[in-house]
This record gives sequence, structure tokens and C-alpha cells, in this order.
Amino acid sequence: MKRPELITIAGAGLVGSLLGVMLGKRGYRVQIFERRADMRGQEVAAGRSINLALAERGIHALKKAGLMDAVKPLLIPMRGRMLHDRSGNLEFQSYGQRPHEVIYSVSRGGLNELMLTAAEDSKQVEIRFEHELDSIDFENQTIHFTDAVNRESVVVPTQMLIGADGAGSRVRRSLLPFVKGLDRSELLDHDYKELTIPPASNGQHQIDRESLHIWPRGGYMLIALPNLDGSFTVTLFLKKEGDPSFAQLDSHQAVNAFFKTQFADAMELIPGLADEFFENPQGVLGTVRCDPWIDNENVMLIGDASHAIVPFHGQGMNSGFEDCELFICLLEQFGDDWPKAMQAFGRTRPRDADAIADMALENYITMRDSVLDPTFALKKKLGFELELEFPRRFIPRYSMVMFHRVPYAEAKRRGVVQQEILDELLLGLDSLDQVDRARAGELVRERLDLLNESLLAESLLA
Ligand SMILES: Cc1cc2nc3c(=O)[nH]c(=O)nc-3n(C[C@H](O)[C@H](O)[C@H](O)COP(=O)(O)OP(=O)(O)OC[C@H]3O[C@@H](n4cnc5c(N)ncnc54)[C@H](O)[C@@H]3O)c2cc1C
Repeated sequence: MKRPELITIAGAGLVGSLLGVMLGKRGYRVQIFERRADMRGQEVAAGRSINLALAERGIHALKKAGLMDAVKPLLIPMRGRMLHDRSGNLEFQSYGQRPHEVIYSVSRGGLNELMLTAAEDSKQVEIRFEHELDSIDFENQTIHFTDAVNRESVVVPTQMLIGADGAGSRVRRSLLPFVKGLDRSELLDHDYKELTIPPASNGQHQIDRESLHIWPRGGYMLIALPNLDGSFTVTLFLKKEGDPSFAQLDSHQAVNAFFKTQFADAMELIPGLADEFFENPQGVLGTVRCDPWIDNENVMLIGDASHAIVPFHGQGMNSGFEDCELFICLLEQFGDDWPKAMQAFGRTRPRDADAIADMALENYITMRDSVLDPTFALKKKLGFELELEFPRRFIPRYSMVMFHRVPYAEAKRRGVVQQEILDELLLGLDSLDQVDRARAGELVRERLDLLNESLLAESLLA
């Protein structure tokens, strides 16, 4: 079996639906089984990551799928972080230094719905909602589903199964007894809770629309991303237990007191804060690392199913979209020889997934803590200067991850080298005027080789 007749995907979330579109576009027949009901035309459940940050890797994949023109109207650019201190003072920190170096807030539901429709419109993809994958019979190559509409079990033959069924993936769990591998899920000791800043009475956003707002408080933080309807989705990230923690926020009074001391300016904008706090679910966060991602040339994992990460670099969806784009490129490269494409994907991609998992964990500390440190700001400025002088050698790590497509493992490796260069150049200094520029040039040229131009994005939406 080099080119399967029919591809089965478990999960029509963000990654499963994009992969469906891309495979359909390449001429494959695809069936997708999704445990939830069709979300189109339904109210989105509150409190579950309503919006997301879309960046270059995701945009590149959407372009390849031919969807970017349709996605553009859903986007709100976020040019940087707007930091809110306890007194309500604001400080803006730009993410990049060129006009197109921005990330975009996008509605999860809006994007998912658009991709479901595009997949079905291709006539190559059939989506069966309310079909939950229960188990896989590897010997007989069949999949067992529960059809919630007709309340019956359904057995479906499969030639090729792709598990895009998210962090708790049943495909992954079914696979592991048969392969000598690992399946490690590490829950973070911090949870999250979503809240809403509604639009002003004139329908406009109440705080700066083109920023990702952060209320960094050391061990925890509040963030807010804009929505098209003028509202913001606000997320509190906080320890489950300890002081302060979600465990302590067990009454209206405790919630109001906590917000009043820590996030007073945000609190003023969230009417009925404590009611919403108790109505919305408390979400868990974690990292999934597993190996291998493929089995026996007819099962493969993709997206969160193989590499769920914490959301602090805004890369879970972006990396899942990049998975889809890279896999399609491998099919192109190997003339649709699936075993070869799968082997190459399974050999190379886990290293990058591991790297972004680590960087996402590190970025929690950056967002909630380091952004307040004056040395962080100084290093960031010097990093930008070096990028302007050596654009193919020195690119700040955040930019390599968000604005370019430098493989994650390479971005992580270069990030360490760059950090050492900045540390060395700024040792004992408190201003950029004192930096030894000649030494800077020497260090950059000695320690950082030239990046391949094809990995650098010129203009995100062009
Ligand atoms: C609070 C929060 C904020 C985030 N912010 C960002 C961000 O800013 N940027 C970013 O890039 N990423 C972000 N992410 C990560 C992003 O949400 C995920 O990486 C992304 O949703 C992964 O897509 P997926 O399709 O692999 O998995 P999912 O979105 O989880 O989709 C899996 C699908 O499979 C279905 N399914 C599950 N089990 C079965 C089964 N047994 N049978 C059939 N169907 C099944 C589910 O119903 C679902 O539709 C965030 C995550 C969280 C929690």
C-alpha cells in the first residue's frame, strides 16, 4: 500500500479538519470521525480557549491549504504585549521590529467551522459527527465507533488511520501496547479559567485592541486576547494549590478580593466577575510527549494527539498546522509513497515537538515574570539591534518561533547561543551605549552560522 484509497482521520478539531482539507486538495478521499456534534450554527461552550494566537507557521499551512483569504477577515493583529501593573499603569513591549512581525487573535470556533466547511466543499471529505472512536482492532484493520445519534456501535474498515483526536488521544493510547514506546503526559501544577471583558456600549474594545494584554504577577498571570465582536477573552493562569491558588478562590468574596488587589483595572471591566468565575470550567494544562508517532505504516498521530503543549508560546495549534504542512510536503517529495513520508515524518518531527514543548514551558516564566525585569528589556533591545545588523544570523528566539519557520529544535539551540552572546556583551552594563560593538560582531559571526533563507518569512499575510 503506497497510496491508500481512503484515509480515516479521528477528530475534526483544528488539526484534523485542516489535514482533511489538505488531503482532499491532493485528491485523496477522506473520512473524518468526530465525537462532538457539528459545531456550525451552535453556541460555543464558554470558558474553553475561545480565541488563539495564530502565527507564521499556522499561516503558512493555511496558505498551502488555500484558506488564508477566507481566514483573514477573522484575524485581529496583536503587535506586542501590553503589560498592566497593579496600579493600572501600562507598558507596551513590541513582539517584533518590522511592521509584519505581529501575531493574530483568531476565534477557535470560527476557524474550525471554516475548515470543516472547506473540507466538505471539496467533495473529497466526509465528516461524521457524534462518532466517538472507542477502539482499534489492529489485526483486522477495523475501528470501532459509538454513533451517539443512532446509539449504536459502528465498525469501519481502515487502510490508513490518522489520530488527530487531541491531547487525550484514544488512537495514541490504543497504539502504545503494540509499540515499544513512551507516552508521558505531565500535568502542569497551574490551571486556567476564562472570563470576558465585554465590548463598550458603542461596540468598541475597552482596552487596546491590537495588543495581547498581560497582568504579570510573578508566579501567576492574567492575559486577554481581543475578539472581533469588541470583547476580550481573559484567562487567569494560577496554581491549583498553595498561596495564591484556585483552591483559595472558593467563594465570591475570595475571588473579588483577589482580583481587587491583583487585577483591579481588569476587574472594573468584567461585570459579574465572580459569577462568571464559578460558571466557567477550570481547565487543566499539560505536556504530552510520545514516541513513536507512527505504527506499521498504517497509523499515524498528529497535532495534540502526539505533542500537546502548554499554551504559553501560543504554538499548540500553530505546530499542529505545521505538522499538516510538513506531512503534505513529504507526500509531494516522495511521490505519495505513504510509508516513506510517514517514516520521514516520524523520524524528524518529534525532535521539534519536544523543543517547542520545552520552550512553551519556559515562556510561562517569561510572560508572568521576566517581562518585568529591566535586564530582559535591555537584552531584548540589543537582540533587535543585532538582528538588524545580522538578519540571517541573529534572530531573537521569540521571532524565530513566531515570525519564521526555523525548525523548533534549531530555534531552541540557537536561542541558547544567542542568550550567551547577550549575557557576555551586557555583563556589568546597564545601557546599550556601553556595548562593545566590534566584539558583538565577532561573537555573532563566530557562533551563529547563516540561516537558510527559505525558513525566514518575509511578510506574513502577503
Ligand atoms: C487555554 C489554551 C490556550 C491556547 N492558546 C493557543 C494559542 O494561542 N495558539 C496556539 O497555536 N495554540 C493554542 N492552544 C493550543 C491549541 O488549542 C491546541 O494545540 C489545538 O487545539 C490542537 O488541535 P488538535 O486538533 O490537535 O486537537 P483538539 O483541538 O483537541 O481537537 C481534537 C478533536 O478530536 C475530537 N476527539 C477527541 N477524542 C475523540 C474520539 N475518541 N473520537 C472522535 N473524535 C475525538 C475532539 O472532540 C476534538 O474535536 C491553546 C490551548 C489552551 C488550552
